[in-house]
Amino acid sequence: MTESKKKIQEVKVKTFKDLEEEVVNRDRCVACGACVSYCEVQAFDVITMKENRPQFKSQKNEENCTECGVCYYSCPQTEPILSQVEERYDAGDNLGHIIDFLAAKTMDSIIEKHGQDGGVVSTILRYLFEEREIDGAIVSEYDENLIPIPKIIFDEKEIINSAGTRYSISPQMLPLKDIKNISADILREKGIYNIDAMRLAFVGTPCQLRALRKMHFLNITPAHLIKYGISLFCFENFNHEQLYDILTRETHLTPSQMKKTYIKNNFFIQSKTGEEHEIEIKKLDSAVRSHCLECVDFTGKYSDISVGSSGAPKGYSMIIIRTQKGKELIDAMLKKRYIEEYPISLEELGEWREKKLKNFNRMVSLKSKKKRNRTD
Ligand SMILES: Cc1cc2nc3c(=O)[nH]c(=O)nc-3n(C[C@H](O)[C@H](O)[C@H](O)COP(=O)(O)OP(=O)(O)OC[C@H]3O[C@@H](n4cnc5c(N)ncnc54)[C@H](O)[C@@H]3O)c2cc1C
Ligand code: SF4
Ligand code: SF4
Ligand code: SF4
Repeated sequence: MTESKKKIQEVKVKTFKDLEEEVVNRDRCVACGACVSYCEVQAFDVITMKENRPQFKSQKNEENCTECGVCYYSCPQTEPILSQVEERYDAGDNLGHIIDFLAAKTMDSIIEKHGQDGGVVSTILRYLFEEREIDGAIVSEYDENLIPIPKIIFDEKEIINSAGTRYSISPQMLPLKDIKNISADILREKGIYNIDAMRLAFVGTPCQLRALRKMHFLNITPAHLIKYGISLFCFENFNHEQLYDILTRETHLTPSQMKKTYIKNNFFIQSKTGEEHEIEIKKLDSAVRSHCLECVDFTGKYSDISVGSSGAPKGYSMIIIRTQKGKELIDAMLKKRYIEEYPISLEELGEWREKKLKNFNRMVSLKSKKKRNRTD
């Protein structure tokens, strides 16, 4: 056997067993669902997601594993190919590639009422649907127990149910596992005769966008259907049960009595009867998911467009544009009055931009500090 052949044989492809050992069992899994979505679309019938934890369906199913390794390499929490993906998206520094950034808010009064901040994310989806740029969008909704569930929507009428922030895991890549089972009625209505022609937008947290880009880099199905990646800013996320235990203990509200939650230095809850409760953010520390403590991507470096409230004037969102496609989209939305830019005079613009960049960098360093404090 030649030396090079020997070397190839020595490189063992890592599989779901390694993913379990290195990521899932070490509480490093961000529960994006990328591993399961790929494996299921291939109909390998090996792994599933239970309570936001990927696992073998059964010991018997374990034998079906083809050891292709795609689950391991597309996971946002594994090292291989990450540096190449980082290079492709110019995501090496704190904030990633930025073409432009601005503050803006929706011009849609219904989205304004239901959106978390400036309602920009929901308005982007509305624009993409109305302009027939997408056939569907992956968003997050609440189920009847206020547990976030990821969902593919096919109509702009469904956008409002997803508006607002859910401060716990919504495994956004997971709905892709059922992409081949989309009803024939929907496909007919959209004029899609080949599932590979479907065009989706994706909304998720920075770690979920990293999973998406790793899949794009590997050129694998079903991520190839996602044409627009929209990231939310994200400082940390919470374990649902632990979070709601604390919220209920502190406010005496049951989850079904809560209407909206938001973070502005502290954690705020608006009840359905109109009261507002403030909880010191530190009190939620025990509910923060472990993997968030090692995460330093605040602005979603792997998106086309990132959106968050940090640094935005009240009622507005900050928008970071990262790709040419993202730029064309935001320019068109401004032109067609879907969103309105926060007005700043030319004289103030330079200082304003400098201040915002400083704020983004400050959030990243706060995030890294949090990691250091927890690991000290
Ligand atoms: C866990 C988490 C932590 C965040 N932390 C910060 C922060 O520290 N600083 C900051 O500036 N912004 C943060 N954000 C983003 C912020 O809360 C808003 O989502 C963002 O400003 C967009 O507001 P909007 O009015 O444009 O969105 P909307 O128009 O209200 O649309 C919200 C979109 O977010 C999606 N979504 C909601 N919850 C989730 C979820 N759990 N996972 C994936 N998608 C979801 C919905 O599907 C919807 O498409 C966080 C978001 C999340 C999910
Ligand atoms: S078949 Fe491939 S994708 Fe599925 S679990 Fe095995 S290695 Fe992972
Ligand atoms: S791909 Fe996502 S769900 Fe699967 S192990 Fe990695 S982080 Fe967890
Ligand atoms: S803090 Fe990082 S790891 Fe945690 S949900 Fe947000 S992007 Fe994902």
